[in-house]
Amino acid sequence: MRFDKIIEDIKEWLKFYSEIERETYLALSLKENNFEKLEILKEKVKNCKKCNLSSSRINPVFGEGNIEADLMFIGEAPGEEEDKRGRPFVGRAGQLLTKIILAMKLKREDVYITNVVKCRPPRNRDPKNDEISTCLGYLIEQIKIIKPKVIVTLGRIPAKVFIKSSQPITRLRGNFYDYQGIKLLPTYHPSYLIRNESNIKLKKEVWSDMKKVMAFLGLE
Ligand code: SF4
Repeated sequence: MRFDKIIEDIKEWLKFYSEIERETYLALSLKENNFEKLEILKEKVKNCKKCNLSSSRINPVFGEGNIEADLMFIGEAPGEEEDKRGRPFVGRAGQLLTKIILAMKLKREDVYITNVVKCRPPRNRDPKNDEISTCLGYLIEQIKIIKPKVIVTLGRIPAKVFIKSSQPITRLRGNFYDYQGIKLLPTYHPSYLIRNESNIKLKKEVWSDMKKVMAFLGLE
C-alpha cells in the first residue's frame, strides 16, 4: 500500500472516531442536563407548599425511574406506603404494577413512574381539582424532560387530566390518544384490579392494553 494512501486512511478513521466521540459527548451532556433539570424540579417539589396537601404529607413523592425511558406510567396520587417512603407505587398496587412491567419484558428501572399529584391526599381520597391544577405543572415538566414515547395513565383521574372527555375509564382505556406528540394510553389502576381480584375480565383488559404498548415499542 502506498504511504499517502495509508495517511489518507488514518485521517478518515480519525475523522470517523472524532464524530462518534462528539455524538457520544452530546448524548452524555444531554443526559446530564436532563438529570440536573429533574433534580432541580425534585427539589422544588420537596419544598412545595402550593396546596393544602403539603400540610398532611410525610414525604412528597416526585417519581423515579429511567430518565430516558420510552415508557412512563402516571398514577393519580401517592398512597400511605408511598407517603411514608417518598417513592411511587411501592405498596400493594405498586407490587402489581412491577409484575405488569416485568410481564412486558421490562424492568422497573427501565420505565419512569410518577403521579399527577405529588403529595398524598388525606385518607387516600381523590385529589381535588384545584390540587390537581396546582400540581400539574411539575408533571408536565417531567414529561418534557423525559420525553417518553408512550405514557400509560393508571385509573380514572390521570386519564381525565390528559383526555378532555366525559367518557368513563371503561370506554377510554385501551385506546391510544395524542398528548403533545406522545402516545397516551389509559388503563385501569392496579389498585382497582386488587379490589376486584376475582374479576378476570379486568386483568385480561389491562394485559390487552399493555400488549398494545408493547407492540408500539417493539417489545413483542
Ligand atoms: S401536591 Fe403538588 S402542589 Fe400540592 S404541595 Fe404537593 S407538590 Fe405542591
